[in-house]
Amino acid sequence: MRIQLRNYTPTFSKKLNKWKIRGETFNTLEEADVYLKENKLGKYNGQTEKTCTHCKNTLALDKFGNDRDNKINGKQAYCVTCVKEINTERAKQKKQNKICLRCSEKSLENNNHCINHWFIYKSLDTFGTTKYSKELKDIAEKQNWICPYTGDTLIPSINMSVDHIISKKEDPSKTYDINNIQWVTFQANLCKSSLSHDAFILFCKKVLERFS
Ligand SMILES: [Zn+2]
Ligand SMILES: [Zn+2]
Repeated sequence: MRIQLRNYTPTFSKKLNKWKIRGETFNTLEEADVYLKENKLGKYNGQTEKTCTHCKNTLALDKFGNDRDNKINGKQAYCVTCVKEINTERAKQKKQNKICLRCSEKSLENNNHCINHWFIYKSLDTFGTTKYSKELKDIAEKQNWICPYTGDTLIPSINMSVDHIISKKEDPSKTYDINNIQWVTFQANLCKSSLSHDAFILFCKKVLERFS
């Protein structure tokens, strides 16, 4: 017979100010431990702490992140403090070597992410979701990486800014409409501000007429 391994780790509920196991609550970790032992819950069987294989400190299990693949206690080998330190160090190395923080591609000039992740974050900023990153890149490509207003070359992380053709102010329903998006330079976007395309062109003409 195959033994189903189930890991019952006491988790601390800040809301209840109690330890929890399977909906049962306990005032102290010791009480939770007794419950686990008495009920022989899984292979885990009452273990409430473990030793971090990195810093060698023995800590409560809630000081370790979850790892579904760990069939012994469902926890990572390194404690959260060590994991955090290692991640910070890795990020530092990546920044120094100009490698994207999210993958192993080369990062952009002035930025800690590669071009794909840069578009992913632009999608997140603009739409609150990462799912439009490809569309945003496609739009830039369709524009030949040229700002429609200034004719300047658009360079990710240097001068590229998402613009709403019909401004969000004029038509809030077009705020999250991918078809209402174009790429312009930061400077062009600053000038356009909350104007829609047509109003912005009129504004530019007005300025130009006074100085030509
Ligand atoms: Zn550790
Ligand atoms: Zn990346």
